[in-house]
Amino acid sequence: METRHLLLTFDHELFLGRRSGTVERCMERPVDRLLPIIEQYGLRAIFFVDTTFLMELDGRAAVSIKCRADLDRIARQLRELVQRGHAVYPHIHPHWADARYDAAAHQWDLQELRSYRFSALDEAERERVFRGSMEILRRILAPVDPLYRIQAYRAGGWCIQPFDDFAPISRHLVERDMSVLGGNEAA
Ligand SMILES: [Zn+2]
Repeated sequence: METRHLLLTFDHELFLGRRSGTVERCMERPVDRLLPIIEQYGLRAIFFVDTTFLMELDGRAAVSIKCRADLDRIARQLRELVQRGHAVYPHIHPHWADARYDAAAHQWDLQELRSYRFSALDEAERERVFRGSMEILRRILAPVDPLYRIQAYRAGGWCIQPFDDFAPISRHLVERDMSVLGGNEAA
């Protein structure tokens, strides 16, 4: 009998557009509901977490209690995922550079997409976003696995092409690019 392989992956992120939605309703609760469904079949999944959002929250955590709380919420969930045997890898959305924060509503306006693709960034900014993503993920996961291995990466903005922009950074840091599936443009 032919063996079939199934790879379950999810992007862990807010919505694009004028209102992002909240961490609790768009990220935390859906994953909490999803886990028992996946696990009842003995399956494990890969969660690609929007690390550029984590960097944004981290940058505001000192002055915003709500941003600090969101970062803590996501960190708790990511640690739990790893503890339960799932994988957590970076999903980088450079358009966070142009995000506007509405403190009163505690929502993000993500309508500006000029940095949507990785290739839109200059070299220094690519390096900053990529290294920052790896560092914040390692820092969050260190309490459950100090040697956590980031084996894969998924680009936001549909694709990482041209790959020449990305290759110099990725080569040393991740083993697999999972941005684009064969015959598919999902990212
Ligand atoms: Zn995404």
